[in-house]
Amino acid sequence: MTPRTTRAQRLAMPLARDVVRDLAAEHGGCVRPVQLRRTDLDTGQVEQVLVPCGHTLATVCPSCAERARTLRAAQCREGWHLDAEPAITPDPASDEQRMWVEHRAETQQHRDQADAAGHDTDDLDELSAELDEEITRSGIRGSVLPNRMTRRHRSTRRRQDAPDLPRRPVAPRTIGKTYTAPDGAIFRPSMFLTLTCDSYGKVSADGTPARPDGYDYQRAARDALHFAALFDRLIQNLRRFTGYDLQYFAAIEPQKRLAPHVHVAIRGTVSRAELRQVLAATYHQVWWPPADTVRHDDAHLPAWHEPSAQYLDPATGEFLPTWDAALDAIGDDDEPLHVARFGLRFDAQGVLAGSRDSARCIGYLTKYLTKQIADCHQAQTDAQAAHAGRLADALRYEPCSPTCANWLRYGVQPKNAREGMRPGRCTGKAHRREYLGYAGRRVLVSRKWSGKTLADHRADRKAWLLETLGIADTDPARYTWEPVTPGDPDHMPPGQRLLHVVADRQKWHAALTNARARASGQPAANLSATGSAA
Ligand SMILES: [Zn+2]
Ligand SMILES: [Zn+2]
Repeated sequence: MTPRTTRAQRLAMPLARDVVRDLAAEHGGCVRPVQLRRTDLDTGQVEQVLVPCGHTLATVCPSCAERARTLRAAQCREGWHLDAEPAITPDPASDEQRMWVEHRAETQQHRDQADAAGHDTDDLDELSAELDEEITRSGIRGSVLPNRMTRRHRSTRRRQDAPDLPRRPVAPRTIGKTYTAPDGAIFRPSMFLTLTCDSYGKVSADGTPARPDGYDYQRAARDALHFAALFDRLIQNLRRFTGYDLQYFAAIEPQKRLAPHVHVAIRGTVSRAELRQVLAATYHQVWWPPADTVRHDDAHLPAWHEPSAQYLDPATGEFLPTWDAALDAIGDDDEPLHVARFGLRFDAQGVLAGSRDSARCIGYLTKYLTKQIADCHQAQTDAQAAHAGRLADALRYEPCSPTCANWLRYGVQPKNAREGMRPGRCTGKAHRREYLGYAGRRVLVSRKWSGKTLADHRADRKAWLLETLGIADTDPARYTWEPVTPGDPDHMPPGQRLLHVVADRQKWHAALTNARARASGQPAANLSATGSAA
C-alpha cells in the first residue's frame, strides 16, 4: 500500500521527466535531440538515430552548449601558438559547385543584356541572388561577384584628434617572432589582450552609474552598436603597424556596466607602448545621416504612400529623403553620426604555449559563450535593473543599421523601406534587451588562426573518439537520412527520446572509460560501445 502523503510532500518529490532531463544533461547528452531515420542502402536496415540539437545557449541545451564551448576552446588553443604557417589549400570545386557557378554566369549574361536593352532586371537580379545562395550552400567560399558598392565621395582625411600611425607593408607571415634566451632556449610568445569601451560616466563597483543623469547612455548605445566595426579597424591598424598578417581569436562579452569588452588571443606579441599608440590612433566613424533631432515622434509618424512605395511627411505631404539621398546630403564639413573608440586603459600579457596562463586565458575567452550577452551579468539589485532599463531605452530609438525603422523618427526613409515600419519597433537584434546593443558574433576568429573551420575541429574530435573506442567510421554514402515527424508511426515523443539519450550516453561513457583503461594497460570490462545517440 502506498503511504499517505501531504501535498507539500508530494510537491517535494522530484518529477520523473525532470529527473530524466537532468540525467541526460549530467551525462553530457542533448536534452532536445532530433530524431532521424537512417536507412542502410546495402542491407535495407532502418535505424532511429538521435542527433544532438547543437544549440549554443546553456539555457536551451546545457550539453550541446558545453560541447560548443569546448570546441571553441580547442580552436583557440590550436591557433594561438602555431609555429608553422597554417596550410590553407582550397579543395578543387566539385561538379555540383561548378554547375551552380555556370548557372550564375548564364544569369549574369542575361541580366546584363536585359539591362543594356533598357529592360527591367529585378527578376534576374533576384535569380542571381538565389543562385549566390546556392553557390554558398554548395560549400564555396566568397562570392562570384562581390557587391559593387557605389562609393560616395566622403572626406577621408584623418581625424585631427587622433594621432597618425606609422604604416609598414604587411608581409604574408601569420606567426609571431621568436626570442632566444641567453641559455639558448627559444620562445615564441603570444598575447592575451582585454580591451574596453571608453567611460560614459563614473560607475560604482556594482556596475551602475554614480550619477545616472550624468551617464552618457546614447554614446554607450552607439559604441555597442558599432563595436564589431571598431574591432575590425583595430585589427587592420595592428596589421599595418606590426607589418605581419596578425591572427586573432576574440570573444566579446559585456562588462558589469553592460558595455561590451573584448578578450583577444593574438598570435605573436606587440609591446604595451606600441599597443597604446595603435589604440590611440584607432577609431571607427559612422557616416550615417544625423539622428539627434526627433522629427516625427510616435504621434506624427510618416505615412506610407502605396503608389510610390515611399514614406511621406504627414504635415507637408512631401516625401522624406530616401536613404541614398540622405547619405548623399552628408557634406565634407559634416561630422559623422558617431565616432567609436576604445578606452585607453587596456590589459595585455604575454603568454607562452602550454603554460598555465595559457589555459587560464582560454578559460576567460570561452567562459561566457554559452550565455546570452545580457545573462552574463544578471541584475541582482534595483539599481542594476534600472541601469539595464535605461540602456535598453537608449537603444530603443537608436538606429541599428541602414534598414532600421527608427530612421523614420529622424526624418529619413530607411534603406529598403516597406510598409508598416514603426520607430521603436525595429526587429533588429541589437534593440533586444538580451543583446545590449551588440548583435554581432560572440566569437571572432581570423581566417588563418588554426587553418581549420569549426567543422574541421569537430571532425578532429570525432576521429579521436572513434579511434579511442576502436570503431570504424561509417561511410556516409551508404546511408540515407530522413527527418521523423510526429505523424510517423516510428516517431518517438520527447520523453522517450530522452530515455534513449540517457541509456546511450551511459554506454558511451563506459566504453570510453574502458578504452582509456586499455590504453593505460589495465584490463577492461566487457562493454560494447554501441548506441544511437551522439
Ligand atoms: Zn542539445
Ligand atoms: Zn533597428
